[in-house]
Amino acid sequence: MTVLLATNNDHKRRELAQILTEHHVVLPREIEIDFSFEESGTTFFENAVGKARVLFDLLPAGDDFAIVADDSGLCVNALGGAPGIYSARYGSPDGGTTELPAAERNARLLGELGDATNRDAHFVCCMVALFSADRYAVVQETFEGRISREPSGSGGFGYDPIFFLPERGMTVAELPDDEKNRISHRGKAARGIAAILNVVAAQ
Ligand code: IMP
Repeated sequence: MTVLLATNNDHKRRELAQILTEHHVVLPREIEIDFSFEESGTTFFENAVGKARVLFDLLPAGDDFAIVADDSGLCVNALGGAPGIYSARYGSPDGGTTELPAAERNARLLGELGDATNRDAHFVCCMVALFSADRYAVVQETFEGRISREPSGSGGFGYDPIFFLPERGMTVAELPDDEKNRISHRGKAARGIAAILNVVAAQ
């Protein structure tokens, strides 16, 4: 099955292609579709379904793709679940049009959290596979950890350098890619979606 991802994020593509190995994974720009989505939903679910539907409406009639869209973010307990659905635009000087570089977002979050002793946090990933306008499946997963005192590691993306895993004694940015995929919010959601894609492909 050809899986069209509703994202322009190469990191997400790399992570998903490692899991959806039985499928051909493509980005919109590779089939000359200019995809963008303004995240106006109030939940991860609304944004994920919204991305899938917007991309579906851009497809030429008759094209046979499964669209996979995700919306993800970091929820920090001591910040009341922020930045949550606003994770990508956190700290943006103009409300989200310009995204801050990840290192600046991380520094800002560490500053906001200060010396808080409760550093518990989790990532959320809501992933949708959309097969036609009214036919879709959803998997939402989490990944538990803590916000570190300072950034560490150069792997992954986004908040990975400040997302510390107590049981590993390292941040996600210090984990090998395949290890992150095994335990992360997106990895777990993608394996659920992969199982659904296999069922649909066999129908
Ligand atoms: P979106 O899902 O494209 O809206 O992006 C959500 C934002 O959450 C990203 O820009 C990242 O900053 C952050 N994020 C989501 N998943 C991860 C992850 O696995 N590691 C680090 N940051 C993440």
